[in-house]
Amino acid sequence: MHKDNIDTAMLAEAGAWRSRDLAVLWHPCTQMAEHPDTLPLIPIRRGRGVWLEGVDGRQYLDAVSSWWTNLFGHGEPRIAAAIARQANELEHVIFAGFSHEPALQLAEKLLALAPPGLARVFYADNGSAAVEVALKMSFHSFLNRGDARRKKFVALSNGYHGETLGALSMADIPLYRRVYAPLLLEPLFAPSPDAYESEAGESAEACALRRADQLAAIFAQHDGEICALILEPLVQCAGGMRMHHPAYLRRAREICNAHGAHLIADEIAVGFGRTGTMFACEQAAVTPDFLCLSKGLTGGFLPMSAVLTTAAVYEAFLDESRDRAFLHSHSYTGNPLGCAAALASLAIFESEPVLERNRSTALRMAALATPLREHPHVAEVRQTGMILAIELVADKRSRSAYPAGERRGLRAYRRALEDGVVLRPLGDILYWMPPYCIDEGALQHLARATLAAVQEATG
Ligand code: PMP
Repeated sequence: MHKDNIDTAMLAEAGAWRSRDLAVLWHPCTQMAEHPDTLPLIPIRRGRGVWLEGVDGRQYLDAVSSWWTNLFGHGEPRIAAAIARQANELEHVIFAGFSHEPALQLAEKLLALAPPGLARVFYADNGSAAVEVALKMSFHSFLNRGDARRKKFVALSNGYHGETLGALSMADIPLYRRVYAPLLLEPLFAPSPDAYESEAGESAEACALRRADQLAAIFAQHDGEICALILEPLVQCAGGMRMHHPAYLRRAREICNAHGAHLIADEIAVGFGRTGTMFACEQAAVTPDFLCLSKGLTGGFLPMSAVLTTAAVYEAFLDESRDRAFLHSHSYTGNPLGCAAALASLAIFESEPVLERNRSTALRMAALATPLREHPHVAEVRQTGMILAIELVADKRSRSAYPAGERRGLRAYRRALEDGVVLRPLGDILYWMPPYCIDEGALQHLARATLAAVQEATG
């Protein structure tokens, strides 16, 4: 067949697919009225490495790792094979009263990798569910120890922890929270240690410590009433890839200790090597009471999450009484396919120098982003490991934002798509959070497309 005929056939197939989709589907985090005109809907046929192949035959570089889930590339053959093998043995089994080798091995491996002092693994099936588990476990463990006064949680401004009502309660992003506010728990919000908000001449560390003092004041005011502080260590991802100094985590740990409260580290987005270390908490040498993991846990193949906690928390639930048990379950808890995918992903960390390789990829990312730093509408290019963010502003000196209605980020997104790059922004913040296997050619393509997208959005 002549090439033009193939392209026409593919375009027609993509068009037909779009119509079928828009007739029956409802996509997440989307104003569906914007499809198909403002936002193009892109049907994908397959994925290989950092590339997604559209039904229309076009290639798209997945610069956002498909909502931060993917680690080693789409279609990673070792993970795919592990899932297939497991599917032929045991696809799923009720996890109350039953167990299996993949769940057991995965728990052993996660505990060996995690910061020292974590001793138990509770599985769930997505990030928000992991957050719900940690919140409920924290509260319930105090109750079981006879401490019924602790009913409050502390969360950070600009934080994000998921969409279910409990997890959403801990979030401080108006776009997601505002509508549901009448239904939500009300945590005490402490100011974020976000280095972007540091005062003139103030270092990121000094900003973090100043904000930690404000955190300490909240704990002092509510002494004995707080179950836990929940935070995203090092990077508030949904909040615009805002980054903070690890000193904040050290002080937060001390403050929680001083007030007998738990620390919940939500590493759902930043775990598994994203920030340069296996877990972000390592950079502050901090062990949380709860470590929430998901997204990259399965290398981006299957929905699964895990909450790691301490022996002390676990022991608070051991009793003859059913009421004192943690009666929380999800049907797919401990799903063997998810565990097999996670084990295959962790095996790649064991057999290859992933973190070292990421360090050199991160350096290349920094170098390729250099021209963006000088751009008159880029307030800042910031980076923590394999996350690099570019904040677009109306005025570089005052850092004043563009009016939200101008949707500059959306313009950048659409332009990058034309260049075959998925650069889904957070408002006017563009970011690179690619699969770890991104090579030099793809990085250069990403940098070129980003520059063009920034020009278009700010022109
Ligand atoms: N916590 C953080 C830090 C997240 O980034 C996310 C997802 N973006 C969640 C929790 C929720 O995870 P899920 O989407 O799997 O429910």
